[in-house]
Amino acid sequence: MQIPCPLCGLRDSREFTCKGHAVTLDRPAADAPPEEWHDYIHLRDNPAGPTRELWYHGGGCGAWLIVTRDTATHAVHGATLASEARHAG
Ligand SMILES: [Zn+2]
Repeated sequence: MQIPCPLCGLRDSREFTCKGHAVTLDRPAADAPPEEWHDYIHLRDNPAGPTRELWYHGGGCGAWLIVTRDTATHAVHGATLASEARHAG
């Protein structure tokens, strides 16, 4: 599998570390019930198909990327810098 780093070009995925889904989790209030904290810490979606993931290019430029990847086929559909994705909304 190869990942198109916006700064380095197309690179082998072994240069990267996947840090999971690129989603914003709503952190419970400090006094929220244990069930809400359990869900926040442990429960994640496990989609089969296109998903956005956070990847770190540790073997290259050191950038954090948002990679769009199909979890069923491992096809990579694109990558953007995480810093730009955050500003784009
Ligand atoms: Zn890079």
